[in-house]
Amino acid sequence: MTTAFLTGVTGQDGTLLARRLLAEGVTVHGLARHEDDVASSHGQRPAEVVVHVADLRDTDALARIVADVAPDEIYNLAGISSVAYSWEQPVLTGEITGVGAVGLYEAAWRAQEAGGRPVRVVQASSAEIFGLPDRSPQDESTAIRPVSPYGAAKAYAHLMASVYRSRGLHVSTCVLYNHESPLRPTSFVTRKITAAAAKIAVDGEGVLALGNLDARRDWGWADDYVDAMVRAARHDAADDFVIATGRTHSVAEFAAAAFARAGIDDWEPHVRVDPRFVRPVDASEIVGDASKAARELGWRPTVEFEEVVGRMVDHDLALLRTS
Ligand code: GDP
Repeated sequence: MTTAFLTGVTGQDGTLLARRLLAEGVTVHGLARHEDDVASSHGQRPAEVVVHVADLRDTDALARIVADVAPDEIYNLAGISSVAYSWEQPVLTGEITGVGAVGLYEAAWRAQEAGGRPVRVVQASSAEIFGLPDRSPQDESTAIRPVSPYGAAKAYAHLMASVYRSRGLHVSTCVLYNHESPLRPTSFVTRKITAAAAKIAVDGEGVLALGNLDARRDWGWADDYVDAMVRAARHDAADDFVIATGRTHSVAEFAAAAFARAGIDDWEPHVRVDPRFVRPVDASEIVGDASKAARELGWRPTVEFEEVVGRMVDHDLALLRTS
């Protein structure tokens, strides 16, 4: 029987990964930062998950939990999840997203040494480690040159994964590009748009304020990205894998598709650009080449852009109609 330990279990990816592993019969333990997070995610998180509460910065507590749980697989999904927030809290971001990951590798390595059996770790890395890339699409050999506290913290965790790999720990990184679902909070542009399009369609009026409409992102379906992480954990050799669809769309195209799905063909009168949401540093296009993951993990994205948007809008319409 496999036991998995997930950090960030209350977030989008943690929730989806917990569901996926439980469906396979895996025993799932999760780490949450606060009791409050546990309570607020209650409706989404499967009840079978054994939740432990600790701060990733508390390396001793983390090591104790990992030793007690004795997991076969560890997925590090925890961290500050937004680039914008990382500018407000750069030190905290470094501690949790950067150093916290290293605490987890160390706990895994010690548990492996003490237990005499392998522990496999997957680090949820991020396209943000590439910063403003001079190459499109990016792959595993693209220069790591972050431009935000979030990207720099993820870059440190990414590089330390390879250090622990040399030390004998099976730790893989999945360099995840934007991946969405109805579990995304509205701090992300995708859910912000789908929630607003649904509300405007139901109310018959309203305006949505956005930032840069021309930014292009590689948006995939979050369940596919969770699947990639499971494949990476179970692959013979630990390695770095870019996980992306390889296709980009602009924020404007996302808005057009979302409003159309909600029944509004003329979206432009419902959107205005507000400088408050325009970022000081923002890559114009982020797109990944996942051919290594395809080749070595047999991974492929299964949900097209229109369908990603459609599922999110349908979910938001259903929420409004039942409330
Ligand atoms: P990120 O790529 O992980 O930062 O994901 P986001 O969903 O937060 O942002 C994706 C892109 O949408 C970025 O290029 C943002 O600059 C752009 N964007 C445009 N308007 C907005 C907005 O109102 N909110 C957010 N979060 N992003 C916006």
